[in-house]
Amino acid sequence: MDINCPVCKQKNINNFRIVSSIYSDRFYRLGTCPDCGHIFLLDPPDKDNLERVYKEIYNYQAHLAIEKEKRWRFRRLKQVLGKLVPLDTEILDIGCGYGDNLKVLKACGYLDLSGIEVNCLAVDSCRDDGINVFKGEFNQWLISGGSKAKNKPACVILSHVLEHVGDLDDFFKGINIFLGRQGRLILLMPNTASTTVRLFGRYWGWWQPPVHLHHFSKASVAELLKAKGFKVDRLFTRGADSLFLLSTILSIFRISPSRRIVSALERIIIRINSAIFRYWLFAGNEELIVFASKI
Ligand SMILES: [Zn+2]
Repeated sequence: MDINCPVCKQKNINNFRIVSSIYSDRFYRLGTCPDCGHIFLLDPPDKDNLERVYKEIYNYQAHLAIEKEKRWRFRRLKQVLGKLVPLDTEILDIGCGYGDNLKVLKACGYLDLSGIEVNCLAVDSCRDDGINVFKGEFNQWLISGGSKAKNKPACVILSHVLEHVGDLDDFFKGINIFLGRQGRLILLMPNTASTTVRLFGRYWGWWQPPVHLHHFSKASVAELLKAKGFKVDRLFTRGADSLFLLSTILSIFRISPSRRIVSALERIIIRINSAIFRYWLFAGNEELIVFASKI
């Protein structure tokens, strides 16, 4: 097959895998790069169809139902954050959602915080909470002059964002424009080398086609960061959030949400699930966390 690996540009993609998710009414094909191990969606929908999935099916509200768990998870990175990211750093959270990471950072003493988010409800919620957020895509933010250098250290957070990015090369060009030299990058994303991938196979809750286009392992993210001019400072794994488990169960039973609004009963189920299964964080290895810095 004549498709290049988006990370290392190797051509002989093999080891195909068929996956499904709550966001798809059909199975999708993933290919694996034999060199760097990167896994990616071979047959993504076109731009219009993908936009339709985000608009009509992708469930932002489910994330809102576990906001406490999200902050609890991000707070656990406090120690490593304190060692690697000085308090006077300008921090940009791309795809900040409802601003959970930024709220944790504010409580830790970081002052120069902003976010970028496409979802209107999430943007409104951030603004209600006094968070400085740009509504739109990262490239629109760059064009609008958001990247003006402030002559101080800068850091970009991509929390469960990179797997949604279509063109990694183009995206990293923008990241490098903003970060310049010595900037830092914090990545959180699904880990395809996790134990539960073998257990759940095609129904693994974080495959999530067609919204997840890329799937990284420790090896492939290290390869990507090296190619984009970063050095890895810390690279580790921990368990998935509680939505991962629900997503896996729904995928196994082929249940797809037909609407984006979460009902009161569903919210209760999500919260009970969160109260119990958030502790999977200590047992699993589904989430990959990387702290990197520009060379
Ligand atoms: Zn590759």
